[in-house]
Amino acid sequence: MSDTLKKYLFEDRSVRLQAVSLDSSWQAVLAHHALTPAVARLLGELVAASTLLAANLKFEGSLVLQLQGDGPIALIVVECRADLSLRATVKLRQGQSVPADGTLQSLLNAGGNGRFIVVLDPRRESRSQQPYQGVVPLEGDSVAEVLEHYMQASEQLDTRMWLAADGKHAAGVLLQRLPGHGGDAPTGSSEPGQDTWTRAGHLAATLTPGELLAADTDTLVHRLYWQETLIAFEPQTVTWHCPCTRERVGEMLHMLGRPEVESILQEQGRVEVVCDFCGKPYQFDAVDCAALFAQPGSPGTPGGNPTLH
Ligand SMILES: [Zn+2]
Repeated sequence: MSDTLKKYLFEDRSVRLQAVSLDSSWQAVLAHHALTPAVARLLGELVAASTLLAANLKFEGSLVLQLQGDGPIALIVVECRADLSLRATVKLRQGQSVPADGTLQSLLNAGGNGRFIVVLDPRRESRSQQPYQGVVPLEGDSVAEVLEHYMQASEQLDTRMWLAADGKHAAGVLLQRLPGHGGDAPTGSSEPGQDTWTRAGHLAATLTPGELLAADTDTLVHRLYWQETLIAFEPQTVTWHCPCTRERVGEMLHMLGRPEVESILQEQGRVEVVCDFCGKPYQFDAVDCAALFAQPGSPGTPGGNPTLH
């Protein structure tokens, strides 16, 4: 079974375990972008991570993970919805080559100005619910380390991740210590779940990227935790999906403003927008553009969510 996310709890319910293995959804991302292996690896790791984190969303909406870089990679964006449909894109900085041995730090944080941004966007639920945005510096040598730092700094959650990606597969394992587990303070000296957390981490640390990519999630979880009693949850399917629409592109043009849109029209005779995530082209001629700005209360009025499309 591919493109499945599995969730478990350790028997004492102090630690959450998740494993994901992606084939077709990851290949759909790759099919829409021409990426060198070093860039594809970073993107694939972030894609796997996004599903592991989105699987715990408590709202209908999406989780957006952004790596903003000051090196050869300008931006990596992955959006994963609560139903685990995802899309992803990369923007390279023009005029800079991407070294084959590029790392997270050399490709995204060469000048020390890279940032990791997390947006939790409870779309469509209500206008009063604003997207939450968290920003941290790009600390760490891997996507997993950046995310672990973020979860600790922003959510105060002990989280460990093991991520891997190549031109075919993207995969990941997440361990998270559940806060407040075990009720009141323990009578013993150690915190509740401390042993489970330590043991689970030691075992997962034996994983190699090759193993992560080669094995399906069941085999992986069995190989690591066959001695543990795990409480299994219903597996979730991960899919690739780009929810871009003509209406949303219209909203974006509306936000761009009439003078800007009219100057493009004058120059090119029409406005053509290509979706960064799926490559779908949208064309607006002079009549379409006039309609965008003609109706009061048309798409794009303030109050819309500052999303990435
Ligand atoms: Zn699209």
